[in-house]
Amino acid sequence: MKRKSIDPLEIKGNSSSAWNLVREYLIQESENKCQVCRDKFDILHIHHLDGKGLNNKRKNLLVVCQSCHGLLHQAKLNTGDRIKLADWLKHR
Ligand SMILES: [Zn+2]
Ligand SMILES: [Zn+2]
Repeated sequence: MKRKSIDPLEIKGNSSSAWNLVREYLIQESENKCQVCRDKFDILHIHHLDGKGLNNKRKNLLVVCQSCHGLLHQAKLNTGDRIKLADWLKHR
C-alpha cells in the first residue's frame, strides 16, 4: 500500500473495461509505437511477458505491433530486437 492515487496499471481482474483502460494508457504512454520495432501503428497489442493474461502489472506488459507480437510468441525475435526490448524494459 505505497500508492494512494489510482494507477490504471494496478487494476485487478480481467473485465474488458478495466483492460481497455490499461491498454489505452500503455499505448498512449508508448506514443503508439511498438516497443520492439519502434514503428508507429494504429493498432497495437499488449503482450504479457509472463504469458498469463491476468497479470496487469506494468512490468509484465509490453506494447507491441501485430507482427512483433507473433514473433514474441514464437520466440523468434532477432538479436537486435532483443537488445532493444531489454533496453526498453530497463529504462521504464
Ligand atoms: Zn513491432
Ligand atoms: Zn502476447
